[in-house]
Amino acid sequence: MTVPAVLRRAAACGITQAGLVVHFHPGDDPRLFDTVREEIESSVSDFPGQILLGAEIDIMDQAGTTSWSDDLAGMTDYVLLAMGHTQMPWVRPDLSLPPRRFLEAETTGLMAALDRVPATVVAHPYIYGSLHRSMPGLAYSLRPHEIPDSLVSELAAKLVDSGIRFEYHCRDLLIRPWNLGGGQFTASYGIFLDSLRSLGVNFVAGSDAHYLDQIGRSANAPDWAQNFLAART
Ligand SMILES: [Zn+2]
Repeated sequence: MTVPAVLRRAAACGITQAGLVVHFHPGDDPRLFDTVREEIESSVSDFPGQILLGAEIDIMDQAGTTSWSDDLAGMTDYVLLAMGHTQMPWVRPDLSLPPRRFLEAETTGLMAALDRVPATVVAHPYIYGSLHRSMPGLAYSLRPHEIPDSLVSELAAKLVDSGIRFEYHCRDLLIRPWNLGGGQFTASYGIFLDSLRSLGVNFVAGSDAHYLDQIGRSANAPDWAQNFLAART
């Protein structure tokens, strides 16, 4: 996953605007982004379109604590605010809550985090791809369509007012939904996304590619979730 290799693969997939994302965890050095920016600038001949550098920020708890640092301001072209990084030891939501209460707490935590981070996109929202390893009972019982309407409306208003997009996640949702609770989860999640769409929330398709052969999978998102970045510029 070197910068030139990623860009050549993206070009081969027919992607016309590529986003390269670097995770930023607590204690990481923001100068990391200067290094990646330099790598991108020396690799522009590997990609015919626009190349954007993004930072992925962890939401660490349900009070809205994040790994964001003000030192990052202006260093990236966009910012992903990531839910569900429960595989990271510093990410500590209250896993003792019953499923519906857990999702409510996740929603208020997300909204608190959105107040603190200049986010562009909410990454893999309500996708808890690792939770089945530590808390399968909770992971397989999450039903996002049960989040109360009042909370969904509040979240949607915040996203719309700030111009923040929801990612349509082309990994667990499409290729390994059984980690999330299978068809019962994806049906519930679809209802939840429909509610947000009806309230005016916009989406962006994300591959969440961590290997070269995963780069093209954002093409599997539905049409309504595609091409946000191209439409914006
Ligand atoms: Zn992530």
